[in-house]
Amino acid sequence: MTRVMQMACHADRTGEFSQKRRCPPARDPYTGDMSELAKMIESASNTAVFTGAGVSTLSGIPDFRGPQGIYRHLDADRIFGLDQFRRDPGFYYEHARDFIYTLDQRSPAIVHTVCADLEAQGLISGVITQNIDMLHQRSGSRNVIELHGSPATHSCPGCGLQATFEQVAPEVRAGRLPTCGQCGGIFKPDITFFGEMLPVGALEGAFALAGSVDLMLVLGSSLVVQPAASVPLATLEAGGRLAIVNLGETPLDSRAAGRWVDLETEFLELARHFGLDSR
Ligand SMILES: [Zn+2]
Repeated sequence: MTRVMQMACHADRTGEFSQKRRCPPARDPYTGDMSELAKMIESASNTAVFTGAGVSTLSGIPDFRGPQGIYRHLDADRIFGLDQFRRDPGFYYEHARDFIYTLDQRSPAIVHTVCADLEAQGLISGVITQNIDMLHQRSGSRNVIELHGSPATHSCPGCGLQATFEQVAPEVRAGRLPTCGQCGGIFKPDITFFGEMLPVGALEGAFALAGSVDLMLVLGSSLVVQPAASVPLATLEAGGRLAIVNLGETPLDSRAAGRWVDLETEFLELARHFGLDSR
C-alpha cells in the first residue's frame, strides 16, 4: 500500500478525519492514485481549479477557520466585521497587521506554481479561490477569480479612491492608519467582510467558469463556506467531473470522480508527471 493510500485510509467517510485505520476496497474513490489524477487532467478538454485555505497553509498562512487559525485566539468576526470596521477601523488594522500586511513576505507553494504552469500550458483555464492571500497571481496565474475579495486593493469608503496593497502595507506596518489623501477617510481592504455581499462579478464568473468545464479540481477546501462552496456543484450539474484533494471530508466526496488527501504529495507528483519545475 502506498503512503498516499495509507493516509487516505484515515479519512472516515461518515465521521471526522481520524487516525482510524480502515482498509478501503480497491476501487474506493479515496484511493485513486496520482497517475489517475494526471490522466484526468490530460483527458479533460477544459479544467478549472477551486482552492481554499488548505492551499494557503502550504505557504505558512494559517487557516483562520482551522485548528491553528486565528479564530482560536482572535475574534475574526470582529476583525473582519463591517460594522466594527465602520466604528473603529483601527481595530482591524491593529489585528490584521501581522496577518494580512505581511502577505507579501510569503512565498507561493507548489499548488500555486503548478496551477500557474498548467494554465500557461493550456491545461487549466482558470483558478477560483476562497483565499485572500494573492499567491495565485504572484505565482503567475492569470485568470484568477477571488470569491472573497483581496487586499490587493483598498478603497476609501468616503470617496472611492483606491490604493494598492504596496501603498497601504508600509503605513499599516508602521502603525499608522492608511488615510485617503483626497477626503481623509480610512481605506478599507477590498476583502469581503462579514456583513458584506460576495463580489457579484466574481461569483457570477466563478459559476460560469465552473459550468463550462468538464473537470474541476477542488484543492484544500472543505466546501463548507457558502455560497462559494456551491461553485463545484455547477460543474457536476453541467455534466463535468470533480477531483478533490483535501485533508478532511467534503460534502461532495461521494460525487467526486477522484479523491485524494495530501496536496503536497499529489502536486509534487503532478509536477513530475508534467515535467514542471516544482520550485
Ligand atoms: Zn477618500
